[in-house]
Amino acid sequence: MKMNIRQLFDIVGEKRSFSQDFDYTEEELYGGYPFQSPVKCSGEIENRAGVVRLVFHVKFSLNLVCDRCLEPFVREEDLCFEHILVQKLDSDQDEDYILCPGGVLDLDELVRTDVLLELPTKVLCSEDCKGLCEQCGQNLNFGSCKCEKKEIDPRLAVLGQLLDFSEDDSEES
Ligand SMILES: [Zn+2]
Ligand SMILES: [Zn+2]
Repeated sequence: MKMNIRQLFDIVGEKRSFSQDFDYTEEELYGGYPFQSPVKCSGEIENRAGVVRLVFHVKFSLNLVCDRCLEPFVREEDLCFEHILVQKLDSDQDEDYILCPGGVLDLDELVRTDVLLELPTKVLCSEDCKGLCEQCGQNLNFGSCKCEKKEIDPRLAVLGQLLDFSEDDSEES
């Protein structure tokens, strides 16, 4: 959506609210299409003392697959972004300003960039996801497996070494 906000640049105290749904179902990320429902965006643009500020919230859910345990899960996100809008950039101005040539804001582009940059590169179903057992593939979040914690009797350990059985570093952080 391109918004003509020239009036907001021209009139101090002017304010405008908006809400818009975006469809990112075609957006490919993490080897899949995580945006299976609309991305809901709502915000406000206000000219306060000549400075035009945009604040918006984006709510969406992500259908993801955990990098560690490979389980699918859904994560709800509610992000807030804030930008200063300008009609032209002076050379001494910060590049963080969002340029709106001729008073036109490309909201689609801005929201998309903000959202995609904010997403983590690695996805975990939870910070302390236990992952999969390297040996049997059991999801350790659902319970431990038989091969985990092979606490070998010291007498048998000797035997284990003899059988060259000792490469047991099933230690996964
Ligand atoms: Zn996980
Ligand atoms: Zn196992």
